[in-house]
Amino acid sequence: MSHRSLHWFRKGLRLHDNPSLLAACDGCEELWPVFVLDPWFVSNQRVGANRWRFLVESLQDLDNSLRQLNLRLHVVRGKPSEVFPELFKKWKVTRLTYEVDTEPYAVERDKEIDNLAAHHKVEVIKKVSHTLYDTNKVVSKNNGKVPLTYQGFQVLLNKLGPPPATVTSLNTQLLKGCKCSSVPEDGKVYEVPSLEELGVTCEYPALYPGGETEALARMERNLSNTNWICNFEKPKTEPNKLSPSTTVLSPYLKFGCLSARTFYFKLLEVYKNRKHTSPPVSLHGQLLWREFFTMVGAVTPNFDCMEGNPICRQIPWDDNQAYLTAWEQAKTGYPFIDAIMTQLRKEGWIHHLARHSVACFLTRGDLWVSWEHGQKVFEELLLDADWSLNAGNWMWLSASAFFHQYFRVYSPVAFGKKTDKNGDYIRKYLPILKKFPADYIYEPWKAPLGVQQAAGCVIGKDYPKRIVDHDVIRPINIKRMAAAYRNKAESTETQKNSKKRSKSDTDDLNESDVSSKKRTKKSSKKQESIGAFFSSC
Ligand code: FAD
Repeated sequence: MSHRSLHWFRKGLRLHDNPSLLAACDGCEELWPVFVLDPWFVSNQRVGANRWRFLVESLQDLDNSLRQLNLRLHVVRGKPSEVFPELFKKWKVTRLTYEVDTEPYAVERDKEIDNLAAHHKVEVIKKVSHTLYDTNKVVSKNNGKVPLTYQGFQVLLNKLGPPPATVTSLNTQLLKGCKCSSVPEDGKVYEVPSLEELGVTCEYPALYPGGETEALARMERNLSNTNWICNFEKPKTEPNKLSPSTTVLSPYLKFGCLSARTFYFKLLEVYKNRKHTSPPVSLHGQLLWREFFTMVGAVTPNFDCMEGNPICRQIPWDDNQAYLTAWEQAKTGYPFIDAIMTQLRKEGWIHHLARHSVACFLTRGDLWVSWEHGQKVFEELLLDADWSLNAGNWMWLSASAFFHQYFRVYSPVAFGKKTDKNGDYIRKYLPILKKFPADYIYEPWKAPLGVQQAAGCVIGKDYPKRIVDHDVIRPINIKRMAAAYRNKAESTETQKNSKKRSKSDTDDLNESDVSSKKRTKKSSKKQESIGAFFSSC
């Protein structure tokens, strides 16, 4: 029997390695590729202008690619539960296909749509292709439990073997016999929205244009640098390089413009017969971090909150709006932190260790503001904002879950200096400080008034005074963390997990605190590899 298929693009905005899209084409007489502009994402998610632009560009690119196959993208405005019954009837749909999404909103939404489809006698086919592995399969392989350490996760994946192979890209051959729906009469209704329609104004140029075409080109550019790929060690990349020191494939992976499996197998081709680095520090290792947090996020209740989240330590964070605003608005008075937050707002992407630095500063390091607030700011400003990855990494950095060495604190002064003594990164993102001598660029409050005046920037007038004194607040916050860790009120579940985890964690994670000095020579080698592990997450 031939089908009238509706393929629902949500993430997975691509034609390559898209098994559910191929399932739509199988035995299909007519095909409608659809994206639903769901108002939930406007009201419930904080989506900044840069990410809206990335999405619009990705949809335009997808539409262009579909048109080359004599198809088109139909962008439907409205709630999925309201638009689908209408579309099922209007287009006489018999099959609905989509990619599995494990985020809580998506799970609920998809359940409702599956029920509606059943009601309209529409067959539903869903396939896993956002992640390397099928999350449910991984968890059931582990007797329904989730490994809460990367090492445990790796052991489990080793049992599963390599991820499933990629599938072929959509092409004319696969569409043979399938009538392509161009819907001329109401074509305008289904057009890709403009930024004006969305009410979005972008202040800054796009450094990372959205779409599958750009994703594949960016991946290939990265892959062509075989030495760099084979020697990639995440902890050795730099947070404050003027051009990114990692791939910047994250926004493309987030929206599914790039298939993680495609990237994984392309890396494997580069690695073949060459000496190369390994997880957790290699690029394969980075994809496994993505997999790890997605999996834990999929099965942990309230993963993006502190309360009701069984793996999250309950820490009595302060409710300090002034600190939060200063951090968010790049006005902490610590140039390294403010430069990172400026880059984030303007460009929508910052390096992983830059994320570490500002996340640690906001939470346990300096400001003692809850990670949930930081998570929301990242959710708005990151091009790659991803529900599971964002929450998981924020819990890690605030030592609320996964990582427990809360006494390792990033210095907002010394850490940046390690890789950028002259402060060129700060000069780029905070031009008000650009004339400061290198000696003072990380600590401008220390510059004598004459030096400040000569640099055209007086601290407290042209650039804020530092919001806290790191050297004073750090030991106070460490004590507060110690108290929170001792707190008997924390759930038995957390205690049990942390006990189980503590050995492997203390063995493997560590040393971000460049202000905690005097490592003994004896332990430095071990610490280096331990440090590599910590920084790699
Ligand atoms: P590369 O180093 O080139 O790595 C390749 C890919 O591996 C990335 O694109 C990403 O998909 C994955 N990856 C790398 N590191 C991690 C990690 N620690 N956890 C999960 N996946 C990883 N990443 C997001 O994609 N979305 C987020 O919302 C997000 N929020 C974060 C919040 C905090 C507080 C921190 C510390 C990290 C966060 N990360 C997030 C993880 C990481 O910083 C980014 O994935 C990475 O910096 C993206 O740059 P890249 O593509 O050049 O990474």
